[in-house]
Amino acid sequence: MNPTLVDIGLNLAHDSFDHDRDHVVGTAVAAGVQHMVITGSTLDSTRAAIALARSAPDRFRATAGIHPHHAREFHAPDVAALRALLLEPEVGAAGECGLDYFRNFSPHDDQERVFRQQLELAAELGKPVFLHQRDAHDAFMSILKEYRSRLPAGVAHCFTGDERELRDYLDLDLSIGITGWICDERRGHHLRELVRLIPPERLMLETDAPYLLPRDLQPRPQSRRNEPKYLPHILKAVAACRGEPAEALAEATTSNALRFFGFEK
Ligand SMILES: [Zn+2]
Repeated sequence: MNPTLVDIGLNLAHDSFDHDRDHVVGTAVAAGVQHMVITGSTLDSTRAAIALARSAPDRFRATAGIHPHHAREFHAPDVAALRALLLEPEVGAAGECGLDYFRNFSPHDDQERVFRQQLELAAELGKPVFLHQRDAHDAFMSILKEYRSRLPAGVAHCFTGDERELRDYLDLDLSIGITGWICDERRGHHLRELVRLIPPERLMLETDAPYLLPRDLQPRPQSRRNEPKYLPHILKAVAACRGEPAEALAEATTSNALRFFGFEK
């Protein structure tokens, strides 16, 4: 019997799911992933995420936001459009938003401007934030600190950082999203220690599908595409690292996620 789980980061609007989206959701539900939060990363993908969420509002929430990769395409007139999307009842959080200085697909000025615009909207509308940060910790922290007292909650999604970053986030009262990165024997090793430092009420789980297929699935799937049905595998990995029963971790992470994304309203 699989415990009930929530995948808090699923790019279900991604075109790799176009041919079999219902099947992907069905197999995830059969594996115990009863709820999913569909990530918006542009205005268009946010609209798609909301439309999907609307098809089964008990099952899904969407996020509404602009990924830092796309910050250069987001201009002042788009702010009103994003505000309207944030007000849709299916939207559980603002984001994903933040800074990514690893890929640098958008200039830093654009990334910082669009991050601020989204934090301002989230504060104004009382929405929690779904945060992305890579190789930009200090700039990210200094901007987030300006807004933190006005934000109801925030989650550092797909946390892959070091201990200093983790402690900074916990000090800002953020929740932490852990993906199958922890299953990566090449680059996820440090996370195995760090996840023990996360209080149970701050931890949530996500696949980030179709990205970040866990590298230690047995047998190895034919496709490189990650799916929400693999969330129980991530649960087991995190529980083993923390030395606690998977059932207890499932219960804690699920209740955190249901509350954070407003499933209980
Ligand atoms: Zn991200």
